[in-house]
Amino acid sequence: MRLLLVEDDLHIQQFLKRALVEAGYQVDAAVCAKAGEALALEGVHDAFIIDLGLPDLDGLDLIARCRAQGSSAPVLILSARRSVDERVRGLEHGGDDYLTKPFALPELLARLRNLLRRSASQSESTRLQAADLQLDLVRREARRGDQLLQLTPQEFSLLEYLCRNAGRVVTRTMILDHVWRMRIDPATNVVDVHIYRLRSKVDHAAARPLIHTIRGVGYVLKNA
Ligand code: CA
Repeated sequence: MRLLLVEDDLHIQQFLKRALVEAGYQVDAAVCAKAGEALALEGVHDAFIIDLGLPDLDGLDLIARCRAQGSSAPVLILSARRSVDERVRGLEHGGDDYLTKPFALPELLARLRNLLRRSASQSESTRLQAADLQLDLVRREARRGDQLLQLTPQEFSLLEYLCRNAGRVVTRTMILDHVWRMRIDPATNVVDVHIYRLRSKVDHAAARPLIHTIRGVGYVLKNA
């Protein structure tokens, strides 16, 4: 799951970004509405977290502009404006939830999960399945049979990518592009190392392996 965080208070932004990444989300952050709008219009985010007091434009105007251009990602408003009138105004102008500052991190994460679950149930499924492997994309949990797998956020993202492409061969370059989302020397063995670890967790105790190597090409997740 990928989030957009628009927050001009760098202290809050960095704290929140780190916490969200630790919780397994991918996070793009912006310090002003203009930069936030440009990122939002890429259309790749599952939810937005938007501060209202931004230096160049009010957060509500940013939400309105995104909506007008077709963005439908759910919005969690994070604001120091605490009055009932202001909270109602936020919820009536494009906010799907509203949290006042100062906020407690566990509450923000819980509200975010709810928001993502509600929006996912309206659009695509929150679950992926291949054979007896099940991924809960909201809780970021994977199970093989009834066994909960202990995966790092990166391993979960890699497994999610393999699962979304179940039955199709994905190359190392595709994996680097989609899971790491950065330019990494294709000669690096980072993918192989993660596949090795993932395999030891996903296939170790199972009768039939799901992750297969296609020599010289890449990997495929399939039940055979
Ligand atoms: Ca602010």
